[in-house]
Amino acid sequence: MINDKPRVRFAPSPTGYLHVGGLRTALYNYLFARKSGGKFILRIEDTDKNRFVEGAMENLIETLKWIGLDYDEGPNVSGDYGPYIQSQRLDFYQKYSNELLEKGKAYYCFCTAERLENLREEQKKLKLPQAMYDKHCLSLSKEQINKNLDNGVPYVIRLNVEKKGTVLFDDIIRSRVEFDCSTIDDQVLIKSDGYPTYHLANVIDDHLMKITHVIRGEEWLSSTPKHVLLYDYFGWEKPIFAHLPLLLNPDKSKLSKRQGDVAVEDYRDKGYLKEAIINFIALLGWSGKDNKEFFLLDELIQEFSIEKVHKAGAVFNVEKLNWLNSEHIKYKPNEEILYMLKKEIENSNFRIEKYTDYYLIQIIDVMKERVTFIKDYLMLSPYFFEAPIDYDSNVIDKRWRPETTSHLKKLTENYDKLEHFNKDQLEETLKITAEELQIGAGKLIHPVRLAVSGIGVGPGLYEILELLSKDEVIVRLKRAMEKIKI
Ligand code: GLU
Repeated sequence: MINDKPRVRFAPSPTGYLHVGGLRTALYNYLFARKSGGKFILRIEDTDKNRFVEGAMENLIETLKWIGLDYDEGPNVSGDYGPYIQSQRLDFYQKYSNELLEKGKAYYCFCTAERLENLREEQKKLKLPQAMYDKHCLSLSKEQINKNLDNGVPYVIRLNVEKKGTVLFDDIIRSRVEFDCSTIDDQVLIKSDGYPTYHLANVIDDHLMKITHVIRGEEWLSSTPKHVLLYDYFGWEKPIFAHLPLLLNPDKSKLSKRQGDVAVEDYRDKGYLKEAIINFIALLGWSGKDNKEFFLLDELIQEFSIEKVHKAGAVFNVEKLNWLNSEHIKYKPNEEILYMLKKEIENSNFRIEKYTDYYLIQIIDVMKERVTFIKDYLMLSPYFFEAPIDYDSNVIDKRWRPETTSHLKKLTENYDKLEHFNKDQLEETLKITAEELQIGAGKLIHPVRLAVSGIGVGPGLYEILELLSKDEVIVRLKRAMEKIKI
């Protein structure tokens, strides 16, 4: 190992938003660093000018901050190995590509786009398994190269891959991985715009930033032999690799935007708690002991182990995320939910000043087992915030009879007499009233629920009544008796 303490990095290319796969990579790196007392570094890989998106880096950093994955070194945070944005490190790439040129491990290539296209076409006709550069420019003399450079002929710099033997490396998740060198293309290292490709910049920076473990998605596995060759050609010690399994749609295809959201911010905007997102993402490729599924970030730091990450693709199952969201809501102290609920109310048509904190906390308690999102407090039980303006017609058809109004009248009178408007009294009074009327309690319970809430489902009726309080319940009962006509 290069250092005593691990140094790992999350190295996104800022192309718009933080992808859930990117978050998984960031999270596993973070957990690994925190557990081992190492450092977690953020490096922005922005050397592809064609893919530059204004504000993407800021958005990415903001999303990481929101979700709580703080990094020890990176943009906006000091560190000894900066700058941490690749477009600010071009001198390094120049210097090291020159070193490879001198060693004969890289070469100038002046081939035109047209020649490369023809080459690809020819290789296609020959049914070669993959298009590969034919090392045409490797045979250029020093004089020819200098002449071209003096004349300003556009060029790229390519890796000079020796096409024999194999490249071997160990991967924590995949064990030993082997690639045949004859399948490795002479990768472009410096593009014609003078910028490095991902491969060159990535290896140089991992080396200069003393990265000990490269933990990244499986889609980079096929790039790794090129990286290994680069380490060898530079004479540098390699980091330890760990390639994380692919994320899959429920139909086992590769996770794609077509089948749902892939941006972390979309999940945030839909009202998922960061704790639930972290918990869910952690389980995409790793599982805890005894099938435990509910994890807080601190517990993940304790229990996570990169060696236990699976090889098989991990299915992104939104139902599980929903379940975890509801579990994390249940787990949170009421005061925290109160804060979030108030924000939700402020953004709704309800008027926040109408409700005391005490009242809202009671709603939180009563509904806690039923909500998946904070907004569900408003969606599932709007009647706690406003009296119903209409009544579910299905429930009316099923539960409201011609005699219901007179039954409710009796109950309303009895409720009005109550001194203590609490659950027990409300239940007892309802039962006594039903007996007086010689009807089953259900003949009152369902209409009362409909009268006070406008719908047929919800938490316990007596809890709702107690919470709404006497005056409000009486008003609602009277209004329903007037309005519901069958
Ligand atoms: N810039 C690459 C990405 O966007 C980094 C891959 C790696 O971690 O090496 O994911």
